[in-house]
Amino acid sequence: MKDPKLNFSHVYSRNPVDRGETVRRDDEWIADKTKDATSRFLPLRDLNILVTEGAQEGLGWVGSSDLERLGVNATPIFLGLLDDTAHFTVDISAQTRALLELSEGSGFRFVDARSVTDILSPADSGIVAQARAQINWHNVNGFCAICGGETLMGRGGQVRTCSQCKKENYPRTDPVIIVVVSDGDRCLLGQSRRGRLNRTNSYSALAGFVDQGESIEEAVAREVMEEAGIEVGQVRYHSSQPWPFPSSLMIGCHADAATTDINFDEDEMNDVRWFSRDEVALALQGKNENLAVPQPIAIAHHLITAWVKGE
Ligand SMILES: [Zn+2]
Repeated sequence: MKDPKLNFSHVYSRNPVDRGETVRRDDEWIADKTKDATSRFLPLRDLNILVTEGAQEGLGWVGSSDLERLGVNATPIFLGLLDDTAHFTVDISAQTRALLELSEGSGFRFVDARSVTDILSPADSGIVAQARAQINWHNVNGFCAICGGETLMGRGGQVRTCSQCKKENYPRTDPVIIVVVSDGDRCLLGQSRRGRLNRTNSYSALAGFVDQGESIEEAVAREVMEEAGIEVGQVRYHSSQPWPFPSSLMIGCHADAATTDINFDEDEMNDVRWFSRDEVALALQGKNENLAVPQPIAIAHHLITAWVKGE
């Protein structure tokens, strides 16, 4: 598959796996591939990712014979095809023997999906995003929301069907807008009460979930009004980033401020301020004692950088 033309390539995007929409319809093919010696499996534990230790750090892919040897009794989820090889992820959180054997000294370790990006290629971080979001979705959708019946996985993991009322459920993604608002020379950054930025010198772009029946532009206008009391004019899309914590899609935008008086929601925000281009440029270089901005793992870093460069 040819890469789509992207405005920007973020961590957790650029997943090279062909999700195999056609082949995954064949349950028998999926079942065969879960036993196939060429198939590869990425184990997760409590949504942490298995990686290899040592000189060659990378995703901890194992084979079907490894799963058998480790006594894994869990249904693998089909991620898709890579170089014609079937790739799966498998949740081994409840597999005591496998966890014991994949512990310290085994050449493998489990790492948080946020820290994994230091050692992985962009392509592998994309696979992590898919695997983490998929396993989380299956873990929280074991029962039907309509009748309470048990749900069963189909199409290699792209659907769960209720065993009682047959209602089908599909994996979901939650859209979140994230926006750098500017009045020309200054940009608007905030500190959320919920986030880890609370009471530090760290500020980020304003962000929030898109509400039901709301466009991206409307969500931007509402969030900026709620969090900062600022009216926005034109909204411009920049780029997007899968954010598998657990299953968001960050939609990065820039917006023009139509007003400048800040009136922030103290329940939600610790602080919201205007920062000059020079202050923000210094912060991006890590040279501003009064302001720290998010690291390159986050789309906010790139939205802020684009604004500083006048892009
Ligand atoms: Zn049901």
